Amino acid sequence: MYKGLIDRYRKFLPVADDAEIITLNEGNTPLIPVPELAKAAGIDAKIYVKYEGLNPTGSFKDRGMTMAVTKAKEEGMKVVMCASTGNTSASAAAYAARAGMKSVVLIPDGNIALGKLAQSMIYGAKVVAVDGNFDDCLKYVRDLCQRHPIALVNSINPYRLEGQKTAAFEIVDDLEDAPDYLIIPVGNAGNISAYFMGFAQYFEAGISTKIPKLWGMQAAGAAPIVENRVFEKPETVATAIRIGNPASWEKAVAARDKSNGRIEKVTDQEILEAYKLIARTAGVFCEPASAATVAGLIKYGRDIEPGSTVVLVLTGNGLKDPDNAIKSAPEIFHVKNDIRAIEEVVL
Ligand SMILES: *Cc1c(COP(=O)(O)O)cnc(C)c1O
Repeated sequence: MYKGLIDRYRKFLPVADDAEIITLNEGNTPLIPVPELAKAAGIDAKIYVKYEGLNPTGSFKDRGMTMAVTKAKEEGMKVVMCASTGNTSASAAAYAARAGMKSVVLIPDGNIALGKLAQSMIYGAKVVAVDGNFDDCLKYVRDLCQRHPIALVNSINPYRLEGQKTAAFEIVDDLEDAPDYLIIPVGNAGNISAYFMGFAQYFEAGISTKIPKLWGMQAAGAAPIVENRVFEKPETVATAIRIGNPASWEKAVAARDKSNGRIEKVTDQEILEAYKLIARTAGVFCEPASAATVAGLIKYGRDIEPGSTVVLVLTGNGLKDPDNAIKSAPEIFHVKNDIRAIEEVVL
């Protein structure tokens, strides 16, 4: 039986032999071929999506959280805390519940997707909605965790990246080598750094023959790394990457440069088009931040060498953000309770 990513990749993870593992059997997500996207982008490449929306709380954050909460528990902590655009808080709340710990989450008031808020609430987190943005929330969390015995579980916690790197391992294990390109959304920039670490470790262990070019995608209204400046007021429909001053900025730049990759921006309009495209052509529903990768493929795909293997990381499940889905596809037919009226719209 599959027992979660710590169990599967233990020899690559800093976990004590006798540690109590806090897991929801996260990881082991499918790598789905999407030839539809090669067609849409007009390129000759084998394209796959790593559908991280199928993790237990619906995003890749669970990979980091199983590690961070296992470690917090090992260290005798009773409370975990994070700042979040939504997914980190959902994941922290779930794993804290699993561990019998308390969780406190700071979120930007009014700027998190409905599904994510519902999750944090039902898992029993203390939800604090701050009249500020993500970067403000993270500042307060750092301060509070320094002054109180509370475990900080944002991605500046190094165990988060350790857990998240296992997604790169899974991709190599599935493809039997690393892909040529990996396209990934960039917000606080932890995940692109974690993938680089994972690909590099497998390469050094002789399990893969190459490290993929990492292509990070930021939203045009929150593109600090692309423009090399802090965005004081980041704005984008892709709330999971609505971050103006990424904590792992330098790590992400190093991952980009060491992999011969690039970090680019896509507009909200391009993100929303891509969000609909992948749902309608491939049958895969991801959240807007994840669709930034699809938008990046459409926009920059002409630079991909013919015959390449490309993996897009779909970081979160579309069900997290029902409001944007409904706004993006407003066609509903309202009809009378009458067979002829129904027949008329059906045909
Ligand atoms: C957290 C998150 C991101 C951004 O990841 P970073 O590690 O902050 O760069 C992208 N998409 C989704 C769905 C997320 O939850």
